[in-house]
Amino acid sequence: MFAVRIDRYGPPDALSAGEVPMPAPGPHDVLVRVHASGVNRLDLLLREGNVFQVPLPRIPGSDFAGEIVALGAEVTDRRIGERVFAAPILSCGRCEHCLRGEDNLCRTFGTVGSTIDGGYAEYAVLPARNAVPLPMSMDWHVGASFGLTYATAAAMLRRGRLLAGESVLILGANGGLGFAAVELARDMGAHVIAVSREPEAKAQLLARGAQAVVAPGPDMAQAVRDATGGRGAELVFEHVGAATFEQSIAALAMDGRLVLGGVTTGIESKLDLKAIFTKRLEILGCRGSGRRDLDDVLVRVARGGVNPHIQRILPLAHAAQAHRLLDGPGVLGKIVLTA
Ligand SMILES: [Zn+2]
Repeated sequence: MFAVRIDRYGPPDALSAGEVPMPAPGPHDVLVRVHASGVNRLDLLLREGNVFQVPLPRIPGSDFAGEIVALGAEVTDRRIGERVFAAPILSCGRCEHCLRGEDNLCRTFGTVGSTIDGGYAEYAVLPARNAVPLPMSMDWHVGASFGLTYATAAAMLRRGRLLAGESVLILGANGGLGFAAVELARDMGAHVIAVSREPEAKAQLLARGAQAVVAPGPDMAQAVRDATGGRGAELVFEHVGAATFEQSIAALAMDGRLVLGGVTTGIESKLDLKAIFTKRLEILGCRGSGRRDLDDVLVRVARGGVNPHIQRILPLAHAAQAHRLLDGPGVLGKIVLTA
């Protein structure tokens, strides 16, 4: 079959496209004919090999949609021809965390497209429990667009206990995770303040549900106070890390929470300890998402409250171009590859 693989770490052109052996499903797996595969920043990080390293070669792609074409010997509750999309988080499915839908706390936590081969291919093997039925109302492109980022954003907003009517400051809103959080927080009834360093993203962020857009930098916290009648934000959605963290803390209201789900710009930051105790702040970490977050997103997408925006559709063979586009300025929305 045709696939795009990471054979070695490096720039986008390090991706190798060509024929690879067809994978065979294990007893509890299904084989999926992939119709669309979403491109995520995680794929770029894997390819670069600086933050994460996985055994190579690896076929990336955490988000994909397609139809089941073969069943493992022990799989009795699925059928050939079923339309499915990949639940990106791998977990045991049996422990106390998994049974509560908190798969991201499972000891066997892993990710499709990094722990096992993913969707940059004509065919992919998935554990049967990770092949989630795709509603008929959703096409392949949409099915390949929300499993990773939207569920991660939903997990962060849940960890941050966002309530309707609260103000939420969303960092990196012109990137995939932040853009998803803007839509989800709007659908949850929050007052959304988006942070974007790209002025041209402002109109799209306002159209997607942000009530205000502020720029990162030394004046960010003041801009947030101005946008909230002087109070500050009840929740800050942080994943940018070192570059913004001090201003993110300063932007919080009394009793505010900051949920941290990434550190894109670095892992060290100054922390204003006085602000923590005088404003009674909470800092909450969050990694990955659970099945309950994916289910929540699926419901919101199915009823139209959230509409993942497909920015570009490219043939799978152009995966390197997709990586360059995602790394460049100005991409709002998903890039989807079609096999
Ligand atoms: Zn588990």
